Amino acid sequence: MSIQSVTLLGTKGGPAVRPGWAMPTSTLVCMDGKTILVDAGIGATVGLTRAGVALTELDAVVITHLHSDHYLELGPLLHTAWTSGLRRPIPIHGPTGTADYWDGFRASMVYDIETRIQDEGRPDFDTLFPLHPLDESLDLELGGVRVTALRNHHPPVTDSFALRFEGGGRSVVLSGDTALIDAMAGFAKDADLLVHEAMLTDRVTESIRKMGYADDRLLRHVLRSHTDAADAARIAHRAGVAALALNHLVPSHEPGVTVADWQAAVEPHFGGRLHVGEDGMVIAL
Ligand SMILES: [Zn+2]
Ligand SMILES: [Zn+2]
Repeated sequence: MSIQSVTLLGTKGGPAVRPGWAMPTSTLVCMDGKTILVDAGIGATVGLTRAGVALTELDAVVITHLHSDHYLELGPLLHTAWTSGLRRPIPIHGPTGTADYWDGFRASMVYDIETRIQDEGRPDFDTLFPLHPLDESLDLELGGVRVTALRNHHPPVTDSFALRFEGGGRSVVLSGDTALIDAMAGFAKDADLLVHEAMLTDRVTESIRKMGYADDRLLRHVLRSHTDAADAARIAHRAGVAALALNHLVPSHEPGVTVADWQAAVEPHFGGRLHVGEDGMVIAL
């Protein structure tokens, strides 16, 4: 994809999928001729192909943190890039623990991988996917695109990161999964686009209570580790970004929750352009 853009491939928060629902998180960043996938929740492979991006075109994959809704499909996606004719490496940048996932995935597929190399003459699998640690010291140059990271606040996960991309005269910040943090306003300063996770606190409280869990651990997790849509809007305003996209929506498909609810949460606090995330939404930069 040559146009400078961010495509929201999967926009719901959390790992569950049901008929008619949006898919978990994955985001495509296309800047200055580079094609970067951020997170690989279930649906990422289909999301990329529907967006018109060949898996073999990816220049890098970045995993923001190790909650399954952000990396459950990493192995299947890259294995499929390999069987789709990949010839050049796709580096994987991920937090501590990504290597355990990758080694486990590789081990689970060893029969297939070795058979295809011997029987079909496929290229070596392991050298195609070099692993690089991701932490707040990230300062990655991908051609003309610079990627930096901010450790966000997503308890109990400590290795969880926001990302900033600069390239082709544009800047984009992805919040990752995070509670409201002050540092996000500085990290996103003057960006063309801030993609921030968002929840509607009243609705999520109602929705989780209806699920009838034995205790309130899930609700407490959600409330302490994610950001209310109004707070995401306040951060966008303080950062002075041109546009805000709400992503990782919680709840995403609750009956009665509409785009108007998200707009109503944001509009009092942020006067820039607002995109309420939907799977497949392309935001031009
Ligand atoms: Zn998540
Ligand atoms: Zn998470």
